[in-house]
Amino acid sequence: MTCDVPGPQTVRKLQPGKLVIASHNPGKVREIRALLGPHGVEPVSAAELDLPEPEETGTSFVANAELKARAAADLSGLPALADDSGLCVEALGGDPGIFSARWGGEDKDFGEAMRRVEAAIAATGPDASRDAHFICVLSLAWPDGHAESFEGRVDGTLVHPPRGDLGFGYDPMFVLNGMTETFGEIDPDHKHGVSHRALAFEQLVAAVF
Ligand code: IMP
Repeated sequence: MTCDVPGPQTVRKLQPGKLVIASHNPGKVREIRALLGPHGVEPVSAAELDLPEPEETGTSFVANAELKARAAADLSGLPALADDSGLCVEALGGDPGIFSARWGGEDKDFGEAMRRVEAAIAATGPDASRDAHFICVLSLAWPDGHAESFEGRVDGTLVHPPRGDLGFGYDPMFVLNGMTETFGEIDPDHKHGVSHRALAFEQLVAAVF
């Protein structure tokens, strides 16, 4: 699954000050805080501001990221940054994709989600491709409704059983092309340099700072 993100030609700059991280996922908040570290903004999480989690009704990563960023900017009166991301498995036609969080169920149990992915791949046959990619769309929205979005993608393969307890979500199953360890086994600083989130963030930094 991919998405079309407009080029950087009309991008609005982000002024120094508070920036809401519009996510209730502690793994994402941790990574986004680390990525924002060197850029002189004051990150505040949606949880710290007690902002509700909007329902993700979009049909693409961009639509969901913009919906979350706009809702947080509107309620807080501050610029807000949201991430919509997921794992797209080639043998599953891009699933779980935008439903990656939901495959973890009510309890957000990603051990279960990874078993589900493995079972779904196995059900497609013995020669099923294990190729997969992570997509991350970062959307920055301002209280007047303006939004800018940036996409990052990394390609790799899936291993089973999962390995490593660093990172979050599907990290223990994902081996980036050219690496042998999963995202769950590498140091978080290493992941922050090579992940789909890092690639989306690089574009955001180049455009808005
Ligand atoms: P959403 O963007 O809140 O809909 O959730 C995205 C879901 O995709 C997360 O809950 C994770 O399960 C998965 N995901 C997104 N990014 C990553 C990542 O960097 N590592 C592992 N799983 C991820």
